[in-house]
Amino acid sequence: MTRYRTGSGLDAHRLVDGRPLMLGGVQVPFARGLEGHSDGDCVLHALCDALLGAAGEGDMGRHFPSADPRWRGAQSLTFVAEVARRLAASGWELENADLTVVAQQPPIAPHASAMRDAIAGALGVEAGRISVKAKSTDGLGAFGRGEGIAALASVLLRQDG
Ligand code: MG
Repeated sequence: MTRYRTGSGLDAHRLVDGRPLMLGGVQVPFARGLEGHSDGDCVLHALCDALLGAAGEGDMGRHFPSADPRWRGAQSLTFVAEVARRLAASGWELENADLTVVAQQPPIAPHASAMRDAIAGALGVEAGRISVKAKSTDGLGAFGRGEGIAALASVLLRQDG
């Protein structure tokens, strides 16, 4: 019997001076970067939460507690690879992941293909299973004012057997 499970994830981080902007596992040229205990990559954090949620495995806070010095300054691709390893151990395979970046600036579209490749590499799947889209909020709200960047993730997992 094949089982399917969907999961969704949401994350947002504040933009601050003096940090590189990491999004979807890619360094995007920009004057500011995302604040965070790790590299602040909200796209990958939303993805990890969606994957863990679909598998009924809680959330990132449970698997990668910020109080644990192992994860201080960690590259978020490390989290993605570790989540993928834990799900694979339970027989879960990724059918697809659909990611949306909410950012007024910088433009995301020129980097979407590199993000897909980086994410697919960390998950060990072909890039065709990963979608990266971008939305501005037409200047509305905190994200429209450029105070931060948010990301949404939807995933479908499959378990055969
Ligand atoms: Mg986060």
